[in-house]
Amino acid sequence: MTEPSIFTRILNGDVPGEIIASTGKLFAIRDISPQAPVHLLVIPKTEQYRDVTELAAGDPELLAELIAFAGELAGDHADGDFRLVFNTGANAGQTVFHVHAHVLAGGLTETSLV
Ligand code: 5GP
Repeated sequence: MTEPSIFTRILNGDVPGEIIASTGKLFAIRDISPQAPVHLLVIPKTEQYRDVTELAAGDPELLAELIAFAGELAGDHADGDFRLVFNTGANAGQTVFHVHAHVLAGGLTETSLV
C-alpha cells in the first residue's frame, strides 16, 4: 500500500491547504512556492494517474476538463491569460507523482517557469 500523495492529503484535510475551487473530479490549490504572481495547481481528485501522459491515455475527457478548469481559474484569479505546465518525469522537475497542472498567470516574465 503506497502512501497518499501530498495532494490527496490536502484534499482529505489531513494536511493544511486551502482548496480554492473544485469540480466533481478536480480541485485547485495555490502552490506553496509560487513562481508567478498567480500560481495554482489543478489536480484530479483521483491519484491513479502519475503524470499527464498517463492521464491523456487513461481519461482524455478528464484532461480536457482540467484544461478548461485551468482557463476558468485564470479568469477568476487573473486576467484570463495563463501558462499551463505539466512537469513530466523527475528529470523534467516533477516531484509529486500525482498528475497536476501548474497554472501560471497574473503577469508573466520569460523566467516564470516551474
Ligand atoms: P512538480 O514539481 O511535481 O511539478 O510540482 C509540485 C508542486 O507542488 C511544486 O511546485 C510545489 O511547490 C508544490 N507543493 C509541494 N508540496 C506542497 C504543499 O504541501 N502544499 C502546496 N500548496 N503545494 C505544494
